[in-house]
Amino acid sequence: MSSSDQPTVVLPGRVRMPLLGFGTWQASGQAGYDAVRAALAAGYRHIDTATMYGNEKEVGRAIRDSGLHRNDVFVTTKIPSDGVGHERRVLEASLAALETGHVDLWLIHWPPAAPGDSVRMWRQVMKARDDGLTRAVGVSNYSTAQLDELIQATTEAPAVNQIRWGPMLYDARRHAEHRERGIVLEGYSPFKTTDLTDPVLTRIAESHGVTPAQVVLRWHVDHGIVVIPKSVKPARIRANADIFGFALTPEERDMIDALGGRAPVENASTDFIV
Ligand code: NDP
Repeated sequence: MSSSDQPTVVLPGRVRMPLLGFGTWQASGQAGYDAVRAALAAGYRHIDTATMYGNEKEVGRAIRDSGLHRNDVFVTTKIPSDGVGHERRVLEASLAALETGHVDLWLIHWPPAAPGDSVRMWRQVMKARDDGLTRAVGVSNYSTAQLDELIQATTEAPAVNQIRWGPMLYDARRHAEHRERGIVLEGYSPFKTTDLTDPVLTRIAESHGVTPAQVVLRWHVDHGIVVIPKSVKPARIRANADIFGFALTPEERDMIDALGGRAPVENASTDFIV
């Protein structure tokens, strides 16, 4: 698939964000480099990394070595909340590691705990955008109340909130709360939060001749939710990108939505922020 075929969502500033991205947590060193090269070869045009992942150098090198034009790859990185007060230094370190002059999306990785720090950090993140170091700005792991705190203090909503999401965490109200605020919902851990042997998913997958994993990814895209599956296995990297040759019916989408609230117990911990 060429980059122009990728379905995108438009962020403020007319920034086009591909709905399908590639996750890179726990893909570091040579394995991270190889995974990102395989992902770009398979058609992904959106890579998700973070200061915390320790792989920005490999991600940047893989993008350059792919031969793709920098503007054809959407790159997200994230600042850890303990970067409060040092925002510019953290972003400059990310840009140096990625060897790029700007990223496409810079996220606050999770809400800083100390009162006032979230708003302080958000102002600095927006300033970096205004200074041209990132094209769009957002947050991750924010509740609706935490989003509202930023909006009330600065009148500007984050473009994106990246949160844990999947069929078994589906929450129509939470999704609507994002839409009402003009915030794009980006889901992470689509597989880790899903029982891929669930009969609803296996039946739908069988009827389309695809895998339950592909059904899960397609379901996100059909909801207009950005999804960033991770794999270091070339065959899975390719299969996870091959989700545009079939479509879910409205009835199938409803059946998957109805799995909401049934996250597998082993995935229900709160130790998920990475
Ligand atoms: P995922 O839900 O993407 O699952 C990754 C796991 O699923 C890996 O073990 C992978 O194994 C396996 N897998 C990949 N493809 C398939 C498939 N087709 N069938 C079955 N298993 C498969 O989890 P992540 O937690 O990695 O989330 C995705 C991305 O989201 C992260 O990489 C990161 O970029 C981001 N993220 C952000 C967080 C935040 O706080 N903002 C928190 C967590 C994640 P293998 O590699 O061996 O194929």
